Amino acid sequence: MKITDLKCAIIGQNPVVRITTDEGIYGIGEIESPKAYIKPHVMYYKQFIVGQDPTNVERVMLRIRNLGSFKPWGSAVSAIEMALWDIAGKAAGLPVYKLLGGKIRDKVRVYNGGVRFPMKGSSPEDYAEVMQKMKNAKEGFTIIKQPISFHGGAHRVVPNFFYGEVEDGSPYISRGLLTEKGLKYLIECVKAMKEVLGDEVGLALDCGPGWVLPSAIKFAKAMEPFNVMWLEDMITGDYTPYVLADVYREVTRSTSTNIHTGEQIYLRQNFKDLIEKHAVNIIGPDPCDIGGIAELKWTAEYADLHGILVAPHGVFNGLFGLAAQVHMCATLPKNYIAFEYPVGRPEWWYDIVEGLPNPIVKDGFIEVWDSPGMGVDFNEKAARKYLREEDKDFFD
Ligand SMILES: [Mg+2]
Repeated sequence: MKITDLKCAIIGQNPVVRITTDEGIYGIGEIESPKAYIKPHVMYYKQFIVGQDPTNVERVMLRIRNLGSFKPWGSAVSAIEMALWDIAGKAAGLPVYKLLGGKIRDKVRVYNGGVRFPMKGSSPEDYAEVMQKMKNAKEGFTIIKQPISFHGGAHRVVPNFFYGEVEDGSPYISRGLLTEKGLKYLIECVKAMKEVLGDEVGLALDCGPGWVLPSAIKFAKAMEPFNVMWLEDMITGDYTPYVLADVYREVTRSTSTNIHTGEQIYLRQNFKDLIEKHAVNIIGPDPCDIGGIAELKWTAEYADLHGILVAPHGVFNGLFGLAAQVHMCATLPKNYIAFEYPVGRPEWWYDIVEGLPNPIVKDGFIEVWDSPGMGVDFNEKAARKYLREEDKDFFD
């Protein structure tokens, strides 16, 4: 089998990759919605993969993997990887999880990073109110992640939150020491949310980046009585193109609160320091930034050897991203906690994709399905009407 073409369409806001072959089998991969600008980057790889056998996934990946980098520049490589697994699965007549070694669980736990309700303000009561709504959500989530601090915009709305300058216009560049007032405010918000969730639903906090080391340590210690699931991305994360494992290690060694990072990191090699230095308790790679599902699986296995847990990121990766997560997470070792559940936005995404269970999430879990490849596909007729003028030939 040979790859004949690579296409990329922006559907809604998500770049979608479609790889075709000379045997009529095609594969689909999806990139997260804030990265519509990645389309030309996807197309750059076409010259390196056309003519290759897509079922030798790793051999194809060796041709392009060295041409990617940290978020957002690893997502094109990652989406191509997922489309190749989709083809390989369809060609073998097997679900992708079997090609990754087989499933060790029949249903995968998800955590809520995407089912959201508008917040009236940013007081502890406002945090408690949305937490109650998320706790009541039909998906029955067992873990909810909430942005707070620099990640939740507290530095913009809470006067004298920190000693730094409030920077606007580019994400996550405000950084500095928290004031006593800022620290107390965050603790009050967490207290209010925990009163709603109790010990029934886990609370994870997406915190930064933007913290400096002393504030991170103080806050992590203050969180100990609350038993939060994890503190995410305090030091680096999101669009930070480096890791700073030694700084994370200082935070992690100072506290019994779980410290988490990794969504922006590209390739297993760049997780090496975090894992070998035991710099965090939980890694959170995104399959569509790390270099794909096999790359993430390897990294999760290596983390397990070091007593480190894994909770894959992926809130904006769309419904094809969701399918890839289900197959991958079914095969991850026992250090797996949950993956971040992506939602289809706009809502019509659910009308143009077929193959997902209905309802998708039951009691906080998704049942692993058995159809070949990723097991999801476009309803072409329904999807065509959302193709942009320049992408009209996407299905041809
Ligand atoms: Mg995050």
